[in-house]
Amino acid sequence: MLRGLSAAVLGGCVVLGLLLSSGCVPELSLLGLGGDSIVAGAQETAEPSTPASEPSLADATSPSSDGASTFTPASLPLSTSVSGTVSGTGSYQRFEFGPGAPGDTWRVTANTPPLSASFVVVLLDERDELLYRRVLGSQDTLEHILRYAAGRVSVGIMPLAGSSGGSFDLRISRVVGSVPPPRPERVYLNFAGGSGVRVQNRAALSFPAFDAASLGSAYVGLTDEIKRGIVATVRADYAPYDVIIMTSDEGPLPSGSVAVLHFGGNDPRLLGLAAGVDLYNSQPGGVAVIYTDSFAPFAAMRLEPAEFASMIGNTASHELGHLLGLFHTRQPDDVMDTTGSAWDLVGEQTLGTAPLEPTVFAVGSQNAPAILAAAVGLSPTFEPPGKSAPVAKGSQALDPRRKIIIDIASRCGTCLELEEGE
Ligand SMILES: [Zn+2]
Repeated sequence: MLRGLSAAVLGGCVVLGLLLSSGCVPELSLLGLGGDSIVAGAQETAEPSTPASEPSLADATSPSSDGASTFTPASLPLSTSVSGTVSGTGSYQRFEFGPGAPGDTWRVTANTPPLSASFVVVLLDERDELLYRRVLGSQDTLEHILRYAAGRVSVGIMPLAGSSGGSFDLRISRVVGSVPPPRPERVYLNFAGGSGVRVQNRAALSFPAFDAASLGSAYVGLTDEIKRGIVATVRADYAPYDVIIMTSDEGPLPSGSVAVLHFGGNDPRLLGLAAGVDLYNSQPGGVAVIYTDSFAPFAAMRLEPAEFASMIGNTASHELGHLLGLFHTRQPDDVMDTTGSAWDLVGEQTLGTAPLEPTVFAVGSQNAPAILAAAVGLSPTFEPPGKSAPVAKGSQALDPRRKIIIDIASRCGTCLELEEGE
């Protein structure tokens, strides 16, 4: 695998240029490179290059870099071409640039001839935390304005899930811009039923008001208790941010821009689905469904009402995360996780920093607090709660219900279905 990747990279090329106010500087030297992490940069004059730092991704596909780099100072225009090949699951290439300043506007487009396939293209910071992601075809442009400073900006490229990949030739540019302000969000949790609810390209969905009896006979009469738990879970997750959570029990759907989370209906494959991943909440509002009837099989876990509420509430927070720009992760105590067990989904999950799910990108992580703060802003009234009492270790392991394993066939289809539709 290592050899294959190295060969692919060595077959690629990096063409660098720097657009200055005085004009375009001719192509600068190609850096000595090895492996799949390519350090690229340019400066105004061909100064002797300095040793590159070791790639921060210490996985088997990142051999040590014997290359050298010089970086374009942040907030100067930059125009660069990169090309290469990525083929097969887990393969990727990453081109490293210098520091990024708030307001820097990065663009990635296909050079001619057209791309051989659609690719996943990401921007990562110096900690390999995701700044932006999109699926890029020949006619597409990735454009992102940095919301906060980055010690280093990387452009990563990998095949789209289900694609064999191929060769790419991309133009990467950076111009100076200004940071758009956060866009606060209002969210309406609809437990009152719905009709004609459409999410993505799915058939319109109609469903009655949420009734906990749909979860199983053990929950008859517990509707209000479970609803309160769901609302409390979502409110707790988003309390640090400028997100107002309203519910259908408190009043009708308000006018204006509102993100609506519907609770009802059934899907044979999914627990939840959001209209899309709206990076940095570029369009406040949106719609998502939490298919509450799909949770009925988990009644076999003999969940307490509060546990069922936590499970559904975590799923609601997850779908809301998509509407505010978050992607899937692979850490079971993270709200955006898709890899944990049903018991993980019952337990406490938080919006933290977690490794990316591999179809989002092969490496890197998502810092949900940083992204949400940039997307919607921080709550003007939030005060962090005091330290909670520690949970007795081993108490969960002693719970005989933990031996009841119910598989989650598919928790959320948001990202997958979006990319199927690309
Ligand atoms: Zn999801």
